[in-house]
Amino acid sequence: MVQTGPTAVVAGAGIAGLASALGLAQAGWQVTVLERAAELGEVGAGVALSRNGVASLRGLGLDDEAISSIGVSTRAGGTFDLRGGPIMPIEASAAHAEAVTMRGVYRPRLHDALLDRVRAHDVHVKTGAAVTDVVAGSPDGEQAVVTAGGTDHRADLVIAADGVNSAVRTALAPQQRPVYSGYSSWRAVVPVAIDPAVLTQYWGPHAEFGTMPVGPELTYWYGYVAMPQGSRLLDEHTAARERFAGWAEPVRDIIDATPPAAVLRHDVVHLPGGMRRYHLGRVLAVGDAAHAMLPTMGQGAATALEDGVCVARLVAEPVASGGELAGALAEFDAVRRPRCRTIARAALASALIGSHLGPFWQGARNALMRRTPSSVISRGAHAVMDWTPPPPRP
Ligand SMILES: Cc1cc2nc3c(=O)[nH]c(=O)nc-3n(C[C@H](O)[C@H](O)[C@H](O)COP(=O)(O)OP(=O)(O)OC[C@H]3O[C@@H](n4cnc5c(N)ncnc54)[C@H](O)[C@@H]3O)c2cc1C
Repeated sequence: MVQTGPTAVVAGAGIAGLASALGLAQAGWQVTVLERAAELGEVGAGVALSRNGVASLRGLGLDDEAISSIGVSTRAGGTFDLRGGPIMPIEASAAHAEAVTMRGVYRPRLHDALLDRVRAHDVHVKTGAAVTDVVAGSPDGEQAVVTAGGTDHRADLVIAADGVNSAVRTALAPQQRPVYSGYSSWRAVVPVAIDPAVLTQYWGPHAEFGTMPVGPELTYWYGYVAMPQGSRLLDEHTAARERFAGWAEPVRDIIDATPPAAVLRHDVVHLPGGMRRYHLGRVLAVGDAAHAMLPTMGQGAATALEDGVCVARLVAEPVASGGELAGALAEFDAVRRPRCRTIARAALASALIGSHLGPFWQGARNALMRRTPSSVISRGAHAVMDWTPPPPRP
């Protein structure tokens, strides 16, 4: 008789879902990923992957070559006002330079790298399979049941990785709903180089603009601005150009260099405080489904990857070697929830003094921050980015 490992269904093939699926499959679980989209792939934009995100990828088995192939080494270059005047520049020679190193990643490459590895581990990835309902089961009793496209899938574990508007969370905890941040974000990746090749952010009233290299001749930019939810614009490229007219030259130049079809815009929603508990029955929530945060700390993808390696180390490995599921899920919750809540709070605080600040306070904020050594700010970043995965379990 063929011996099979425990079974898992992962809802959502984004970064959190694929990282979790990989962690489970590497520990010997039989994994099915159900993805709502008809085709697999990530929205073509960039992501600043800080050291904790890179450490998570290493924990999932990606070596230096694989990590180099998904993006370029870069660093935070600091914050400037909308005219390009320094608010908190970070010099390359800064003593805390190591704290601000990161990889500028082109999202589709990260997604492909995870997908290739997931497939190499015989994970079944089913597209066009929108999860519509879940019965959570009991960790020491009934299996969980996931319904997608009229088919029921039974599993020992369900990973809810279906993003900020999670159908799984809606089924199991309908009162925990995401809210609109009040901000919408243009994003694009443009085939040009920037100099210096670092992550640079500009703050203006109720707006932030950022540029970052994601390849040798590839630059990611975002323009995060206050806007009513669900706004419809006739021409996104022209609207972005008009919104940032009068900003620093590098901002205007990169928008001008962008092919109009490359400009994306998404309303930014988040889940304030995150889920009150990340597990129920045999279901475990990860990534934006569990803790969607504002993008102002650039930690959403990194924490999704952290979740993936923690699914491996804290749940998949111990349960595959005979441990109890209930205890493993409780440990995941105890390790992950306080950390993600702290980072989400920091992202909110960063938004309040940064991109969400109105016109009246710009001058006072800028003057105060110019007097604050950048090492003070990066000390906080250290605490977030020094994270390393828990050690492998027997
Ligand atoms: C403007 C902006 C800038 C950002 N910048 C950064 C950054 O620089 N650094 C960083 O670390 N993070 C950043 N983030 C955050 C990051 O993009 C997210 O936190 C991350 O993508 C979350 O991954 P996820 O897999 O949890 O969710 P998602 O990427 O949303 O993936 C969810 C997946 O589930 C699928 N799905 C949805 N519903 C269902 C269903 N019912 N059934 C089946 N499948 C379903 C979706 O199609 C999708 O494939 C940014 C976010 C925004 C909005």
